[in-house]
Amino acid sequence: MAEGPLPYLQIVALIAAIGLSWLFWRLVSRRREQEDLLMGQIREREARLNLALWGSGDEFWDWNIRDNSLYRLGANQLFGQGSLETMSTDEWRNNSVHPDDLPRVQKLLQEHIVGHAEIYDSEHRIRGASGDWVWVRSRGKVVERDESGSPLRMAGTARDITAIRRAERERRVALEVLRSMSEAVAVIDLDFCFISVNPSFSRITGYSEEEVTGQNSNMLDSSQHSPDFYRRVRDILERTGHWAGEMWQRRKDDEEFLGWIEMSEVRDSLGMRSHFVAVVNDITDKKRAEQELRYLANYDTLTGLPNRALLSERLGRAIIRARRQETRVAVLFLDLDRFKDINDSLGHAAGDRLLKAAAARLQSTVSASDTVARLGGDEFTVVLEDVESLVAVERMARDILTAFSTPLEVDERHDVSITPSLGISLYPDHALVPTDLLKYADTAMYQAKAEGRNTYQIYNETMDAEARQRAAIISALRKALERGEFRLVYQPRMSLADGSITGVEALLRWNSADLGEITPTVFIPLAEESGLIVSIGEWVLGEACRQLKAWRLQGLTEICVGVNVSVLQLLRGNLVGYLKRLLEATELPADRIELELTESMVMQNAEQTTAVLNELRRLGVSLAIDDFGTGYSSLVYLKRLPIDTLKIDKEFIDDLTRDADDEAITSTIVTMGHSLGLTVIAEGVENEDQLNFLRQQGCDEIQGHWLSRPIDGDRCLAFIRAWRPDLLLPAVKVAS
Ligand code: C2E
Ligand code: CA
Ligand code: CA
Repeated sequence: MAEGPLPYLQIVALIAAIGLSWLFWRLVSRRREQEDLLMGQIREREARLNLALWGSGDEFWDWNIRDNSLYRLGANQLFGQGSLETMSTDEWRNNSVHPDDLPRVQKLLQEHIVGHAEIYDSEHRIRGASGDWVWVRSRGKVVERDESGSPLRMAGTARDITAIRRAERERRVALEVLRSMSEAVAVIDLDFCFISVNPSFSRITGYSEEEVTGQNSNMLDSSQHSPDFYRRVRDILERTGHWAGEMWQRRKDDEEFLGWIEMSEVRDSLGMRSHFVAVVNDITDKKRAEQELRYLANYDTLTGLPNRALLSERLGRAIIRARRQETRVAVLFLDLDRFKDINDSLGHAAGDRLLKAAAARLQSTVSASDTVARLGGDEFTVVLEDVESLVAVERMARDILTAFSTPLEVDERHDVSITPSLGISLYPDHALVPTDLLKYADTAMYQAKAEGRNTYQIYNETMDAEARQRAAIISALRKALERGEFRLVYQPRMSLADGSITGVEALLRWNSADLGEITPTVFIPLAEESGLIVSIGEWVLGEACRQLKAWRLQGLTEICVGVNVSVLQLLRGNLVGYLKRLLEATELPADRIELELTESMVMQNAEQTTAVLNELRRLGVSLAIDDFGTGYSSLVYLKRLPIDTLKIDKEFIDDLTRDADDEAITSTIVTMGHSLGLTVIAEGVENEDQLNFLRQQGCDEIQGHWLSRPIDGDRCLAFIRAWRPDLLLPAVKVAS
C-alpha cells in the first residue's frame, strides 16, 4: 500500500519542478537574450552616433545637472585621444572654458534654463588637445526636468569653428581693405560682367555698385582705343588669366580717364577659374604731369622750339632714314651776331623777345618738315632732310640770311636789326653721327663769324683744327690771370717836332704755361669772343697805372701811357667807374692815360660807345683812334667823337716810299687829323725813309722798331733816361 499514489505524486512534482525551473531558465535566458540584443542595439547606435559625430566633427555632450557630471562623446577630434569622456562640471568650468568667455557662457546657460531662451547657443573658446584654445559653437537644451520643472539633464553638441571664424575674420578684413582702397576694384565673372565693385570704383567711374552689377564691363570702353584693343585684352586675359597695362576708360559723365589696370583670374578651391578681379588706378593726372615733364625735357620754354635733347633725337632719326634711303642730311648751326651786346643794352626782357622773334623768323623761313631747334642762348639749329645737293643747302642758308635782313619786331616801339652767322655740316659728307655733325656745323659757324659775320660757311677739315686750337687757347686764357701769366711791355713813341719821348704804349704779353708764348693778335680776339677781355683789360689798366706811377716816382713825369681797350670793355663792365677808382688810388693825373680804341670797333657800335667815350673824356683821360685808315669812318663821325689822337695804321706806313697810294692816304690822314685838331701818330715806323716822309707831311709823332721794340718796364725806363735826341738822331735834329 505504501507504494500506491505517493511515487506518482512525487514524479509529477519533480516533473513540475523541472518544468518550472526550465521555464525559469528559459525566462532568464530569454531576458538575457533580449538584454543582449538591446545592448547590442545600443552599442550599435552609439557606434553610429560616434561615427556621425566623427563625420561632422561635432561632439555630443550630456550634462547631468543633479550629480554635476558632464559626459562627452565624439570629442576626440576636438580634444584628442584619451581626453576625458566624463568630467565634473567644476573641472569643465575651471579648466576647459576660456576664462574670458566663461561669464558669457554661464549667462547663456542660465537664460535657457530659466526659459528665457528657447535653446542654449554659444560661441566660445575651450581648451583643445594640444593646449591651444579652440573656438566652438555649442548648442543644446534641457532634456529632462523633475515634476517641479527643475532641470535634471541638458544635452547638446559642440562644433569646432576655429577655421570658420578665421575665414570670416579674413573676409571681413579683406572687405574693409577693399572698401578703403584708393584703387578701384571690380570683381567680374567669366563673361566680363560686374559682380561687385568697391567705393573707389564708384568714385573713379561715377557708377554706383547697383548701376554696374550684372552689366558687361565693356560699358567702360573708351573711344580712345579701337574695339580691337579691348578684344585683344580680353583675349589675353582669357588665355593667360592675367593682363596689366594702361587703358583709357569712360566715366558715367562721358569723360575719359587713363587707368593703370591689373586684371587677374581667381580660382576656386578646386583650381577652376571662377572670376576675375580688376584693380584700376586713375593715372590721368600722373600721365599729364609726365607729359608736361617730357615737354619740359624736350622743348625750350622761351621759344617753344625743340631743345638740344629732342634735336639730337630727331637728327638721329633723320640720319637713320637718310642711310636707308641714301639721301643727305644738312645741319645748319645759327648764331645771332653780337646778340650779347644787344641783350646788355636793351635788357633781358627785350633780349628774350628778340630771341622769340628770331625763332619765329627762322621757322617761317624753313619748311614745316624741317626741324628748327634752340640749343640755348642765341644758338639755333636747323635740320634739313632729303637734301638733294649742296647748292640747295646754300640756297636755304642765303634765304635765312635774307630773312634776317628785315628787322625783328621786339615790341611796338622797337625794331632790332640782327644778323646771323651760319655754319653747315652734311651727313654723310662730314660726319656720320649727330654729335659730330653738330660740332662741325658749330665749327663752320665760328668760321662764318671770323669771315665777318652775317654769312654762312660750309664745314671743312682745316676748320676743325682751328676750332680745336681756339678752344685750347680759350681754356688756357681762363686760367691765365690767376696764374699770373700776363705781363706788359712798353713801346716808346717820339715827337717828330723835337725828338723827345712823349709816351709809351702798353702792350700785353702772355706766356701760357700750357701753350707757351702766344701773340696778342691771336689771343686778344679770343679773349673778346669769350668775354674774358673785360677782366684781362682791367688787369692791363691796373698794371699800366702801377708802372706809370713807379716811373713817376723815379722822376719820369712827362710821359703818358697808351693802353689798348677793347670795345667790349666799353659795352660791358664798368670801365668809367673802374678807371675813376684806379686814378684816385694811384693819384695819377688823368691826362697821362690815353685809351686806344680801334676805328672799326668804335664805328660799329657808334651810338653805344659815344656815350661811354664822353664820360671817359669828362674823367680827363685822352682818347686815341687806333689802326686808323683800315676802317670806313667818315669825317662826320670822327668829328662827333670826343677824341684827341689818330694813330695811322702800320699797313700804310709799311709801304711809304714804295706805294704812291699809301703815301697819299697817309698825307690825307695827317691833314685831315690836323684840321680836326687831333694829334697824328704813325705806327710801325721801321726805317729812316718812312720817318723822313712822315716828318715832311707834318706828322706829329712816330712809334715803331726804328725807335724801339716793345720792352719791359725797367728797360723802358733806362731807354728813356738814356735818350738824347740831339746826339743820337741827326734826322730828328734836322726836324727840330
Ligand atoms: P696795336 O695796338 O696796333 O699795337 C701795335 C702792334 O704793332 C704791336 O703788336 C707792336 O708790337 C707792333 N709794332 C710796333 N712797332 C712795330 C714795327 O716797327 N714793326 C712791326 N712789324 N710791328 C710793330 P702786338 O704787341 O703784337 O699787339 C698786337 C695788337 O694786339 C695790338 O695792336 C692791339 O690791338 C692788341 N693788344 C695788345 N695789347 C693789348 C691790350 O692790352 N689790350 C687790348 N685790348 N689789345 C691789346
Ligand atoms: Ca694800340
Ligand atoms: Ca695800331
